[in-house]
Amino acid sequence: MSSKFQKTQLARDRFHTLFDVLHRQNYKVIGPVVRDGAVVFERVTSPDQLAKGVIDEQQPGSYKLKYDKQSEDSRYFLWNNGPQALKPLLFKPRQELWMCRADDTQLTFHPSSTEADSIAVIGVRACDLAALALQDQHFLHGNYGDGYYQAQREKMLLIAVNCSRSGEQCFCVSTGDGPGASFYYDLLLDELDDGFLLECGSDKGAKVLDQLSLPPATEEQEQRANRQVEAAAKAQSKQLPGSLQLADLAKLLRADDWKAIAERCLSCGNCTLVCPTCFCSKQEAENDLSLDHSTQVRLWDSCFSEEHGHIFGKNYRPEIASRYRQWMLHKLVFWRQQYGRIGCVGCGRCISWCPAAIDLVEEAQRLLALLPEEEQTRHGGGNGQ
Ligand code: SF4
Ligand code: SF4
Repeated sequence: MSSKFQKTQLARDRFHTLFDVLHRQNYKVIGPVVRDGAVVFERVTSPDQLAKGVIDEQQPGSYKLKYDKQSEDSRYFLWNNGPQALKPLLFKPRQELWMCRADDTQLTFHPSSTEADSIAVIGVRACDLAALALQDQHFLHGNYGDGYYQAQREKMLLIAVNCSRSGEQCFCVSTGDGPGASFYYDLLLDELDDGFLLECGSDKGAKVLDQLSLPPATEEQEQRANRQVEAAAKAQSKQLPGSLQLADLAKLLRADDWKAIAERCLSCGNCTLVCPTCFCSKQEAENDLSLDHSTQVRLWDSCFSEEHGHIFGKNYRPEIASRYRQWMLHKLVFWRQQYGRIGCVGCGRCISWCPAAIDLVEEAQRLLALLPEEEQTRHGGGNGQ
């Protein structure tokens, strides 16, 4: 059996053998591909379909792909992230819950199947794993776990990749979540110019690795892999304030404090859709025009949607300022009481995909600076805890 910490090496021209083993073990492979100008996770059957040689350039309100040299030895995992993390694979944007059928005499109710295929997701980043750990806490909690999420989660193999570069909007170092993965993966890759280093993180990962029968990595290869993760960490200039400092945001209770941001925010909800930790949903009945059945569905929702603040006939968040405040305070302050850490893993998606180029980190810093000196908590760069 493969040792959990012994790294092995896989030559670049043998990368397809990992796919062969996954297919032999009946996994559907999900990997990063380029679609509609972005890197997204989709079903793939060979490494040739992956987003090879692709670099994502991200700025507030902007996401563009550029191509590194297109050659045989281009790297597969130069990009940092796209609009999706693992969220849509487990917490689906549209989930059928149950169906009601009507015939001449009665109504019958039919729950939707929770069956799931075995999937292996390749190219998962450290921040995606941290977000997954948070979503697991939410969806698999105690006796009230979500059966659809749980069924797919149990059949998911996670093949993570350490980041060898940081994107312009990444700040996972300041939340303590990257750029190297340290937990929650089944297999972990480091991509080098001459191939990959593989590390096992679970029994499921060991079953895959055992069938590859790879030689151990050399010390020199391991040092190169460590150096590129360290360089990616050093390249990050964006820094979210520490969680104790962020807690001060809850002292900003005047509507005026949130006015500047409300004037820019369109309340479109993009930030919550791309965020790998957001989990709000709503339920709707989709009635078939034949009138013989109706399907109850769960759809992603956002605290930026107007209806989300409606409770018992009253809208508690009618203004955009109150919706933005709800989002930021829940994510950066109150999440800590619910889940033991803040709800941000430093991926930067909400910044790049915001059409108004609103930068969560800058806004948090600007808002904290509004507090009188004597009310500010002084703590250095913190982490997500
Ligand atoms: S912060 Fe940006 S992405 Fe989020 S709701 Fe406002 S305009 Fe949309
Ligand atoms: S709040 Fe923004 S930066 Fe933080 S995890 Fe969500 S999308 Fe990523």
